[in-house]
Formats: sequence, structure tokens, C-alpha cells
Amino acid sequence: MADTPPRTGSPATHDTDLIIIGGGPAGCAAARMAASVGMRSILVEPDRLCRNLFRIPALNNVLGGYTSGPELADSIVAELKSTELCRLELGRHVTELRADDDQVTVTVDTGARLNAPYAIVATGVGPLQPRDVAWITAPDGLILPPLWQAEADDAEGRTLLVLGGDRPIGTFLRANPTTDTRLLVAYPAADEYKIDEIREDPRVTLLPVGHLTLGPAEGTSVSAEAPGQDDALKTITADAAYLSIGNAPTAPPGDLTRCADGYCPPADQHPRIIVAGDLRSARFQRIMTALGSGSEAALHAYYAAKELPTKG
Ligand SMILES: Cc1cc2nc3c(=O)[nH]c(=O)nc-3n(C[C@H](O)[C@H](O)[C@H](O)COP(=O)(O)OP(=O)(O)OC[C@H]3O[C@@H](n4cnc5c(N)ncnc54)[C@H](O)[C@@H]3O)c2cc1C
Repeated sequence: MADTPPRTGSPATHDTDLIIIGGGPAGCAAARMAASVGMRSILVEPDRLCRNLFRIPALNNVLGGYTSGPELADSIVAELKSTELCRLELGRHVTELRADDDQVTVTVDTGARLNAPYAIVATGVGPLQPRDVAWITAPDGLILPPLWQAEADDAEGRTLLVLGGDRPIGTFLRANPTTDTRLLVAYPAADEYKIDEIREDPRVTLLPVGHLTLGPAEGTSVSAEAPGQDDALKTITADAAYLSIGNAPTAPPGDLTRCADGYCPPADQHPRIIVAGDLRSARFQRIMTALGSGSEAALHAYYAAKELPTKG
């Protein structure tokens, strides 16, 4: 697809036509679509582009013949890197987003500020931590990695305590069918329905718990206490602990309208802020919907720029 001038023409006072926050499928699709209608964009991403896709070993719901996340990611990244109208700011994250009548102002972690007539926010979701759920008591400041970060080689022959029964456990087991890893899955009653797909896997020990108290890390092992069925406290020990509690929206601070659950409905935002991808709601969290909503967000900015010319 060729980038097609003419540009939408933001005044010289703006750094670019469009700031895109987040470089997942939604943000990348927004940048590509913006370029195709002649809009300049700056895309800010702290990690590598499409980082989530590198965690998906097998795909069965994406058009185009892609059968794995990395395969799709490589294709998107190559295309975006050759998109001349998009300036990539990798290794940076947005710390604040402000919107007024004339423009949006985005602050990045270096303290630098960028402004543009419109911003697309496509920051997706991130893993909940033990402090975010009532059924776990954890040492202050404890941050644990999500299960998908456990490398099969590192997990080989080890016992991992997995907190929560969310679906990535099934993904991990399917992706590593021969891994000799023991998973101790401690989960609350609310996750009961999610663990059906892993119930029969011989590598899994299910530990339904009402409450679990994580001990301080000791050397390379972890321990936790939870009341057993007879109400007596049982000690659980493992080589490492990982999370499968679920995800929460990761919107940057500032002028975004959030629901009580932290999601940012597109219809409720400032006219200069457009939300795309997983950040919109807990529903529709898929690659294809992220690509579509990111593309649509860029076109929204394009048409809004024509109808709402900025001052200057
Ligand atoms: C293990 C796993 C398996 C999955 N399997 C499938 C599947 O098989 N099929 C499917 O359709 N979907 C699958 N998904 C879901 C799919 O990956 C997501 O729906 C999709 O990635 C959402 O795209 P997004 O661009 O909205 O958000 P993301 O991909 O989450 O991208 C958001 C980006 O924003 C960045 N960001 C966050 N905060 C900031 C900030 N302050 N400043 C700047 N950037 C920021 C993040 O670093 C991230 O790169 C899976 C997800 C996971 C985790």
C-alpha cells in the first residue's frame, strides 16, 4: 500500500498530525492507515512493536494465512518500519495525556512533550498483580511476572506456583506439550469455570483456595499458606511464582474517561482523543478487532481534522 499525499496539513505549531500511544496491533494499524491518507504520526511504545503477538505460538482466528503470532508480528513490524510518515519512538512510554480545544499534549518518560491535533490511545491491558485482588495477601511491593513469561527451558523440571486460573495456563501447556513442568495452580472459586481445559493435564495440581498468603521470597524458592479443606493452614512451596489472575486496562494518566473497571469507552472521550484496541472494553480483545479499531481510529482523526481545523 503506497502512502498517498496530500497530507491533512496540521499547522507548523504541531509536532505531528497524530500521536499514537501504544505499538500493539491497534497502534500499528492506526499508523499504517494514517500514512495511507497522508497523515504524519508519532508512535510511542516502551517495548518492541506488537510485543503481545510474540507470545502467541498458534493462531487460528486471523485472516491472511498467519498461523503464529511471531509470523504476523514480523510482517506488521516490517511494514510499519517502512512507513515513512510514521516516526517511531521506541523505548519510551507516555506518562500523561492532556487534551484541550486546540490540541492534545503528550508527555513521555524523558519529560519531553509532544503535541498534535489528535491522539489515539491503544495501550491495551496488562497483568493484574497480587495487590489488585482480595484473595491474595502479598509482601509490600511484590511484582510477579505473568505465566507467559515463563520460558519452557527455564521451567523444565521445576515446580511453578501459578496464582489464578486464567486461560493463559492452557496456552502455556499447549505451547509446551513436552515440558516436564509441574504447575501448582492456586485459584479462587470465581475461576472455577476457567480451569476445565487444564483439569486433566497430569502436569497440573489444582489448589482451590479461599485466601492465600504469599511469604517473602527466600533464595530461589517461594512459599505460600492457604487454609485446606479442613481449615488447617497448608504450606505450598515452589521454585517460582507466576501470575494468571487476569488483566486490567493500562491507560496513561490524564484526560481519559474511564469506567469503574478501568476501561476507556471510545464514545465517552474528549473529541481529540480516540481509543482503540483492547483498552476499549473487556470484550472484543482480539488481534483482528484491534487492527480494525486502530484503522478506524486513524480515519476518525482524518475526517475530524477536515471538519475541525485547528487554530494557527
Ligand atoms: C498470551 C496471549 C494469547 C493471545 N492469543 C490470542 C489469539 O490467539 N487470537 C487473538 O485474536 N488474540 C489473542 N490475544 C489477544 C491479542 O494479543 C490482543 O487482543 C491484541 O494484542 C490487542 O492489541 P492492542 O494493540 O489493543 O493492545 P496490545 O497488544 O496490548 O498493545 C498495547 C501496547 O501499548 C503499550 N503501552 C502500554 N502502556 C503504554 C504507555 N503508557 N505509553 C506507550 N505505550 C504503552 C504496550 O507496551 C503495548 O505494546 C492473546 C493475548 C495474549 C496475552
